[in-house]
Amino acid sequence: MTDVTFESLGVAEPILRALAAENYTKATPIQTRAIPALMAGKDLLGIAQTGTGKTAAFGIPLLQKLSIGHVPPQPKQAKALILAPTRELAVQIEESLRTYGRHLNLRMTVILGGVNQNTQIKNMAKGVDVLVATPGRLLDLVQQKMVRLDAVNTFIVDEADRMLDMGFIRDVRKLVAMLPRERQSMLFSATMPDDIVKLTHDMLRQPERIEVAPQSKTADRVEQKLYYVPMPQKRQLLSELLKDVSMNKVIVFTRTKHGANRVAEHLSRTGVVAEAIHGNKSQNARQRALDMFKTGKARVLVATDIAARGIDVDYITHVINFELPNEPESYVHRIGRTARAGTDGIAISFCDASERAYLRDIERIIRMKIEVVAHDLPELTAEQRQQQEEPRRPHGHNRGGRGKPSGHKPGGHGGGHREAADAHNPHAPKKRNGSRPHWHRAKDKKREGAA
Ligand code: AMP
Repeated sequence: MTDVTFESLGVAEPILRALAAENYTKATPIQTRAIPALMAGKDLLGIAQTGTGKTAAFGIPLLQKLSIGHVPPQPKQAKALILAPTRELAVQIEESLRTYGRHLNLRMTVILGGVNQNTQIKNMAKGVDVLVATPGRLLDLVQQKMVRLDAVNTFIVDEADRMLDMGFIRDVRKLVAMLPRERQSMLFSATMPDDIVKLTHDMLRQPERIEVAPQSKTADRVEQKLYYVPMPQKRQLLSELLKDVSMNKVIVFTRTKHGANRVAEHLSRTGVVAEAIHGNKSQNARQRALDMFKTGKARVLVATDIAARGIDVDYITHVINFELPNEPESYVHRIGRTARAGTDGIAISFCDASERAYLRDIERIIRMKIEVVAHDLPELTAEQRQQQEEPRRPHGHNRGGRGKPSGHKPGGHGGGHREAADAHNPHAPKKRNGSRPHWHRAKDKKREGAA
């Protein structure tokens, strides 16, 4: 947080009032830099991840711009378009904009895949000031002539690198090509792979470039601990830890959808209110689980990486990595859930002997060793030992819950099974002959074995 007030940044009174009600007293670093540049009409390249306050950084100037000399939108048109990679993030962006703009009379709506399109078509009939959308469904509705993009004067792409990971970048490019050339554009991304750099050249004009807290820095604010614990004892350890009442808002990460279900079921059986959120659940079920967690009705949310991406829940006390992620970047994303906008949090990781290679990768990118804590669980029972030693079967019987690429190709529109995109690491370095280096090959083999 900085010492800069929103008033000194030139934010208008009705928005100031809404921010004050949210207890936003000072601007975050990205807000102090982005708000004046955007109010001056510049394009923006924001290299920042969720948790930095980037939604308000682009949202406040956007709302202010739309409210000045407001003319109601025409049927099916949107004046501002915001693209987000996941449905949860899109919903969240719209919620934030509604909050900041609650004293302005602006129309907003969300268009997402995975739910019936009729309500969305109805919401667009009269036109909106702000449209937040996932790319696939939006493209569909534009092609059906239910949405018009010819009046978009502000265009924002959020979490561009995730768009790329999830195979949406072509849809984004198609949408960019349909927009009026005269417009203000912004792109936010936590990392800048080549394809995103190319996209910024094509969609931004002399952008202001703002880079805040590189990914690995988030880790500094989170207290991190590690338990070496065999897979068959992880649930037991989780239950032990949850006896601590200070753990009142906890996200538990698993690598697979099945794993998430199993852990949530285990917790429910032991009397802990837990919800699972992953790509096999319908949009409504996911939203319901998220709402239960947000409102404190569920103490624990068990999530896969993709489902949790961009989820913004305040005051998460603990993040538990029930399984270590096979992409070290995901570790940083995960633990960042508990250190939002200046607060601190605790991240606890469970590491089985088979996950040591993942741990090494993680410690390499966060540039530190995670503190190891001993647990006092009893020795493994004979049955648990057998479970651990049993070779993993090739198909279907994924006892250890390891990530298995499910064969679903990333790149489909809107719907479902996105965890698959995560199971294969698109950032894994390639050697010149196209093969992956030995440490990734070893992991690949393990994943195949686990499938
Ligand atoms: P974001 O990076 O946009 O996902 O924001 C992360 C979290 O920070 C959200 O929970 C926001 O409500 C919160 N936030 C954003 N800006 C501020 C601010 N200036 N003061 C306090 N909280 C903020």
